[in-house]
Amino acid sequence: MTESESQKLLQNEVKTFEDLENEIIKSNKCCACGACIAYCESQLFDVIEMNGYIPGFKSEKSVDNCTKCGVCYYICPQTKALLKELNDTYDIEDNIGHIVKILAAKTTNSALKKVGQNGGVVSAILTHLFERRKIDAAIVSEFDHNFEPVPKIIFDKEDLFKSAGTRYSISSQIFPLKNLYSIPQEILMKKKIFDIDQLRIAFIGTPCQCRAVSKMKFLHVKPAHVIKYIIGLFCFENFNYTQLYDILVRKTNVDPTKIKKTWIKKNFFIQTRDNKEFEIDIKTLDPAVRNNCHECDEFTGRFTDISVGASGAPEGFSMILIRTDNGEKVINNMLSKGIIEQFIVPFKNTIEWKNKKLDWYNKLISLKTKK
Ligand SMILES: Cc1cc2nc3c(=O)[nH]c(=O)nc-3n(C[C@H](O)[C@H](O)[C@H](O)COP(=O)(O)OP(=O)(O)OC[C@H]3O[C@@H](n4cnc5c(N)ncnc54)[C@H](O)[C@@H]3O)c2cc1C
Repeated sequence: MTESESQKLLQNEVKTFEDLENEIIKSNKCCACGACIAYCESQLFDVIEMNGYIPGFKSEKSVDNCTKCGVCYYICPQTKALLKELNDTYDIEDNIGHIVKILAAKTTNSALKKVGQNGGVVSAILTHLFERRKIDAAIVSEFDHNFEPVPKIIFDKEDLFKSAGTRYSISSQIFPLKNLYSIPQEILMKKKIFDIDQLRIAFIGTPCQCRAVSKMKFLHVKPAHVIKYIIGLFCFENFNYTQLYDILVRKTNVDPTKIKKTWIKKNFFIQTRDNKEFEIDIKTLDPAVRNNCHECDEFTGRFTDISVGASGAPEGFSMILIRTDNGEKVINNMLSKGIIEQFIVPFKNTIEWKNKKLDWYNKLISLKTKK
């Protein structure tokens, strides 16, 4: 700790958005989750906004208008604040995080199977939660007309067909919560919600985004109070949208609007709407990797109820790491009702199978941190 840092601590000075700008945003470590803005706007402080993928003060006057409450700094997933407390809450002792159960599974819904990225497990979980009336809404990601990811709060399971699949660039998943208190009355009435604070949302996001939500929930700050389930996606790295598609277009000549699906399996693959496939050497995409990913030591998403990913899963399945009782109840219920089908590991190999997966994730994490 530097002298000025310890002085600050001694004076019990709260870190503010200006510190966040200096330590995280200006040094290009922001992951653009939108947590700072969602919190600030939900308090009607009207001080910060997102410019593209960069949070900043709305105007020079906003600097004075900032209440300097410091919440934005503490909930930012890129600051070290609250990490120790979160590790204790989630019972974390290693790089992978606490695991109640590890399995591979796929959806048994043939329509979801077609649109899901791997086993369609995330969309199956959300469908199940909607059908069982455990949630009223979910925060997912969709593509806009330019194939750019956009975060969205959805209220119907039918919308999951549009959101399924992976978007390999930032979708600022916490950002839409800034408008929590402006959700139209007719939507709430349809769901028989008379008090917006009673809304129940499932959150889907990358590890950094889940970390922000968990920090918000740890501090009991709005608008994360409406999030009831945190579902994390494995993530080795994410890409800057413009840079990624500049490279992809240069390498393949495919217009982003003509892309049907992208996936990573050692290299980056594109499938077009007319079913042509292109393989791009993953190394050529290095310049498009977001700077904040270089410092990230998460892969499986430690601060979640359930983490889902492709790595280690048999073809057509997703890996599921259950982390909390909340998550365990959901997955057990889905298995017992046949909503997802588990990959059966021969009994004598079960422990060996699990250990292999964990070893592999540890390797990926050390590769990631070395990179
Ligand atoms: C940027 C990124 C990098 C990833 N890297 C890896 C990796 O290195 N190794 C690995 O094993 N898995 C990785 N994944 C996870 C993997 O691609 C699948 O999302 C996961 O296996 C779930 O598949 P599914 O078929 O069960 O989910 P689906 O049923 O297809 O649902 C996927 C869900 O993810 C949401 N989503 C899609 N894109 C984003 C986004 N950019 N931000 C937030 N939410 C999003 C969708 O809205 C949908 O709800 C990555 C995901 C992302 C978003």
